[in-house]
Formats: sequence, structure tokens, C-alpha cells
Amino acid sequence: MRVGIIGAGPAGSLAATLLAQSGHEVILFEHKLGREKACGGGFTARALDAGALLESHVPCTSITELELLQDSQSAVLPLNAPFHVYARAESDVYLMNQATAAGALLQVRHVTNLFRSGSGWEVIADDETFHLDWLIGADGTHSRVRATCWRPFELADLSMTFGYYLPGKFHPQRAIVEFLPRGFPGYLWSFPRTGHSSVGIISTANHPPTKILRQYVDRFLRRYYGLPPPGRDQIYGAMVPTLRESTLRSNCCAGENWALIGDAAGFVDSITGEGIYFALRSARLLGLFAHEKSLKEFDRLWRQDFGEELVRSARLKQRFYYGGRWQRSYAEMLPSLTQQSRTVRKIENEFVAGKQGYVGLKWRIVRESPRILAELLFGR
Ligand SMILES: Cc1cc2nc3c(=O)[nH]c(=O)nc-3n(C[C@H](O)[C@H](O)[C@H](O)COP(=O)(O)OP(=O)(O)OC[C@H]3O[C@@H](n4cnc5c(N)ncnc54)[C@H](O)[C@@H]3O)c2cc1C
Repeated sequence: MRVGIIGAGPAGSLAATLLAQSGHEVILFEHKLGREKACGGGFTARALDAGALLESHVPCTSITELELLQDSQSAVLPLNAPFHVYARAESDVYLMNQATAAGALLQVRHVTNLFRSGSGWEVIADDETFHLDWLIGADGTHSRVRATCWRPFELADLSMTFGYYLPGKFHPQRAIVEFLPRGFPGYLWSFPRTGHSSVGIISTANHPPTKILRQYVDRFLRRYYGLPPPGRDQIYGAMVPTLRESTLRSNCCAGENWALIGDAAGFVDSITGEGIYFALRSARLLGLFAHEKSLKEFDRLWRQDFGEELVRSARLKQRFYYGGRWQRSYAEMLPSLTQQSRTVRKIENEFVAGKQGYVGLKWRIVRESPRILAELLFGR
């Protein structure tokens, strides 16, 4: 098969590696080579497992503790399984080089048009036409492949991010997550990287305007690091898909000769914004189709593998950030629960490591609630 993969992010590059290794003729299109992406760059333990030996080849910061802030409360969660923070320019180039080493042909071109042609595809990239049997959309949030094969994301299925790259490291092994006032559907982060720190904020796209997001980040920088607002050249901003439950249920990510993976498919945790794991995992699942004649079954496979996790995160989002009528939001409660309960810290640790998902979380908490209650009342 002649396979065209649009986008050499983690999803596209890993899919290109796996399909090329299986003997397909793979063309990997990427228009922004080696660019630093708007991203925290946090690879959780499960993302590292799903990836391709990044740790030993790309410089990274190993995060061993997570500081949780909300209002005046704070708690430090020591991590049993550290997560790693990479500069995306470096991790993406490494994964892309893996793909070309496996035999994929890199085309540094901007894909401008896609047409169905017989049983395959015509892809127009910088005025050149490529004839392909399969088309894989790994072209991120604003995916042209998604818009052609299925439908673009609605605003309500997107989150807005805004942040800065700050030269220097402020707390080498520690990542910070600050939850904002109740009802703010997102959080602020500060992740140390090898040469700089990435400080940013994520919020549902149709909620606060960018001006407000910027004010939150500037206030955090002043309060936490005593820094003035950084210059324009240090700013980044981007959209990331965080799908609603209804969109996830109707989301179609494959047909006979096309498939969507990573952000283009909307595979991002709606609460945390974690997308790198799902980008890599979806690429791995796609790789299982290397010897099939049709890609259609991929749509069933991702649902079976991690679809329910994404659905649960979308369903829990409201409760997490807004709470109930008589109940505080989980975001408000997390720092004090973390500080006071050893069992909560254990569950959080397993969650960050990817060993405890949203599926089963509710029952785990119900099961452990007597112990948690005792820890809250009588000490950790
Ligand atoms: C600010 C921010 C912070 C984030 N932080 C984290 C984090 O810490 N941890 C985490 O797990 N996730 C994080 N995410 C989410 C994560 O960045 C994405 O889920 C992940 O990058 C998805 O990978 P991908 O390969 O699907 O898409 P991308 O990494 O977006 O790659 C898509 C590629 O396609 C290329 N492309 C697009 N259109 C075309 C075209 N027409 N022609 C040629 N090439 C094209 C692009 O240049 C790009 O390289 C963050 C997102 C944002 C916005």
C-alpha cells in the first residue's frame, strides 16, 4: 500500500514508523519541521511506555513531585513513577527520525487539498500531487483530513491554551498545577524543561477570553516567581480538542481507506488535556492494521481500547471543575485531600502513572472512603 500520513507529531511519526516497518510505502507530510510546539511537553509514564524509547535519546526533565495549588491551599504529591518533560521540538524530531530510519519518506510540504480518487486519494502538497491508497490524518486540532473525511471540531469541543516559554528552570524536579476559582473549566501549569520552563493555562474554548487567561498566568508569575509579564516573543497559544461526551460517542475515526489519530481524532483527556499518550497509543493501534485490507475496524478498536476512558473524563469534567449544587468541585478539594490523606495520594499517584483510569475510579473511591475518612479525621 502507498500510505500518506499528514502530520509528523507523535501520532503521525509513530504510525509512519510502524507502517513502514511492515513494508508499506509511507509518505509523511510535515510543513513545520523542528518547530517548538505549544505544549507542556509532559510525557506521563504510560505515554513513555507507548512511545519509542525517548528517555534514553532525548534530553528531558524528570518530574518527581507535583505541587497542587488552589486558592490559599497547597499540597505536594511525591510521584512514585516520575513523568518526563521534553521540549517538543526535540521529542518530535526524534520520533520523526525514527520514521525515516524505518523507511518512511519525509515530505516537508504543506498539504493544501485532499480528494478521493477511485479507491484511493489525491493529496496536493505545495502544488505537487501525490496518489495514495490510504490517508492517515495525524494533522492535529485543525485537521484537514478530519474536515474532509468526517467533520471539523465545534468550538464547544475545543479548549484554548495560552502560555509562555520562560528561560531558566525554577524548580527542577517539580511540576506545579494550580486550579483556578470554582467554575473555571481548566487549570494553570508550570513545567520545567531542560533549558526553559513552560508556564501556561488551559480552559474550555468558549469560556474566558484569552485576555483573562493571560491575566491569570501573569498573576501567577508575579505571585509565585516574582516575575513581570514576559515579552510577546515568549508567548504561545493553541487550541486542543477536549470533546464532549456526545461528540465522542458519534466520533467517526476511520473508513475503508482513511483513519484519524491523535489530536485530529480528538483523542485528548477532557479534564487534564493529556494528549501525547493517546496520540502514541492510537498510532500503535493503527499499526495493528498494517496487514489488513481496510482501516474501518480501527474505529471499533480505539473505542474498545481507550474510548471509555475519554468518555468518562468528558462526563466527569463538569463535576470536576464546577461541583454540584451542594458540593464543592473536585478541583477545589484536591489540594487539601492530597495533603491529608495517604490513600488519596496513592490513588493520585496511580492516576498520574496511568495505572488507575477514570473507569473504576468512582468505585475505588467508594471502596476506599472509610479509610480516606479516617485519615481526614485522625491524620494521615
Ligand atoms: C499548550 C498545550 C499544552 C499541552 N501540554 C500537554 C502535556 O504536557 N502533555 C500531554 O500529554 N499533552 C499535552 N498537550 C496536548 C498535546 O500537545 C497533543 O495532544 C499532541 O501534540 C497530539 O499529537 P499529534 O501528533 O496528534 O498532533 P500534533 O503534535 O499537533 O502534530 C500535528 C502535526 O501536523 C502538522 N500539520 C498540520 N497540518 C498540516 C498540513 N496541512 N500539512 C503538513 N503538516 C501539517 C503540524 O505541523 C504538526 O507537526 C498540550 C496541548 C497544548 C495546546
